[in-house]
Amino acid sequence: MRLLGDRGLGAPCEEVTDFGPDLAKLVEDMFATMYAAEGVGLAANQIGVPLRVFVYDCPDDEDRRHLGHLVNPRLVVADGVTVRGPEGCLSVPGIEAGTPRFDHAEVEGFTADGAPVHARGTGFFARCLQHECDHLDGGLYLDHLTGLRRYRALRAARRAPWAA
Ligand SMILES: [Zn+2]
Repeated sequence: MRLLGDRGLGAPCEEVTDFGPDLAKLVEDMFATMYAAEGVGLAANQIGVPLRVFVYDCPDDEDRRHLGHLVNPRLVVADGVTVRGPEGCLSVPGIEAGTPRFDHAEVEGFTADGAPVHARGTGFFARCLQHECDHLDGGLYLDHLTGLRRYRALRAARRAPWAA
């Protein structure tokens, strides 16, 4: 797992152009890594692969399960009220911060077979979709924090046992 400070986490990922068996294998590896780390979402650059792919297995606020993967995703809708809720990241382990996110998000993309998919969600799953799209653009949830919340999260990250 790539951690905060890794250069690949801060760079935008490339569009996938080859929908061959390597892509299916990547998605499989990403699910295995996400489950091993007990996460609800994972972007390819978190495991050092600079491609626009993410996977998720994430509940929403009504405890509905959302399971899937997206290749070349585009966040097409992010609206509704802004909710500040706890958010963490497998690349910033052990740290959480109240992060503002839209309550509703829709993402369009493709499966590893090249079939179009449309994922939509509210609450915690909408948060997950926005979080993973940020990763593919080289962002982290910490970028959405301001003031004391940002200061505290960055300080905790500097002092974390995994910090470089
Ligand atoms: Zn993350």
